[in-house]
Amino acid sequence: MGRIEAALYLHVPFCRKKCPYCDFYSEPQVPSPTLVRRYLEAVKKELLLRLREAAPYRYVTFYAGGGTPSLLPPAFYEELLSFLKEKLDFAPQERTLEANPEGLTYELLAAYRRVFNRLSLGIQSLSAQGLRTLGRSHNVRQAKEAVLNAQKAGFQNLSLDLIFGWPGQRPEDLAKELAELVALGPAHVSCYEFTVEPGTPFYTWVTSGRIRLLPEEEIVSMYEMIPAYLARQGFERYEISNYARPGLYCQHNLFYWEAKPYLGLGPAAASYLGEKRVKNVAHLKTYLESLEAGALPVQEEERLSREARFREAVILGLRLVQGLDPASLKERFGYDLFSYYGETLERLMTNGLVEQVGSRLRLTKRGLLLANVVFRALV
Ligand code: SF4
Repeated sequence: MGRIEAALYLHVPFCRKKCPYCDFYSEPQVPSPTLVRRYLEAVKKELLLRLREAAPYRYVTFYAGGGTPSLLPPAFYEELLSFLKEKLDFAPQERTLEANPEGLTYELLAAYRRVFNRLSLGIQSLSAQGLRTLGRSHNVRQAKEAVLNAQKAGFQNLSLDLIFGWPGQRPEDLAKELAELVALGPAHVSCYEFTVEPGTPFYTWVTSGRIRLLPEEEIVSMYEMIPAYLARQGFERYEISNYARPGLYCQHNLFYWEAKPYLGLGPAAASYLGEKRVKNVAHLKTYLESLEAGALPVQEEERLSREARFREAVILGLRLVQGLDPASLKERFGYDLFSYYGETLERLMTNGLVEQVGSRLRLTKRGLLLANVVFRALV
């Protein structure tokens, strides 16, 4: 029997500065060559210590996320990937680098292109006001230049991220940004609603009344505008926030949504191999020091019951526009979705949030808009 396929994620814990809305783990520093080397050695050590659980899989995607992975030089990835190839069954067809527009020259992108075949650019907004409000360190000109450089360097599979619903944005501003974004020629677009996370500067500004969030009706109209516009431009919506040209879905992220196995390396990275979920410490210094002392930098480790894995697979699978296949869930976890959720599911269906189409169960158009209501009911 062939090996089970898995995804491999690397968390890069550096950013030029922290954006005031962001709650992802990263340190606000550009790493020195010494720190880059130290980090690389720690990641290699982490893999060696996890090898027993990681080796039985065949890794078909690689994703460097963060943080800002484009703060690490191409040589870092060349060395890491050849190490991974040496130690694992690792021949990923999709290799994604997350990058921020600042500093992305043609030369740098051409060097990354030798390692990666997919680029995910954190454009976030194509409006000067939007970038200022979000506290990003790039401007609109840099964003557009980065896209052109990426395309010139051979990144056909280019994904652009957009945040919508930031304070002060009007629906007509979003319409303009969407048109400009599509005109840049991406293969994939991710659109995330602006959210205020506890512990971030935005949280303080909003709770103290310094900044006002948009009214709900405007957010709803934006939620409706995005899929309608992108569909007219030939993008397929395949997940709540993700759109792609046909055949260019992000294979790596599909592993998460389909509750398939993944290995995560780096601080704050999570792994889900077999029945076990492991989360690393979200602290660079502790991560480095633990590994240098020969110990795994684990913060949490839990063995998930079959039932917990089933429930999680249901919620993740419903994020996909095509929904999930109850028969294959039954085969994987032994639970019949309809009898397991009983009245709860019936109610969601009667309320027009979930529907059965052929053999699949999926969110309706309204359900996609109110996905959190559905997930809260099923969790
Ligand atoms: S660049 Fe990205 S990861 Fe870094 S702080 Fe900003 S939003 Fe967060």
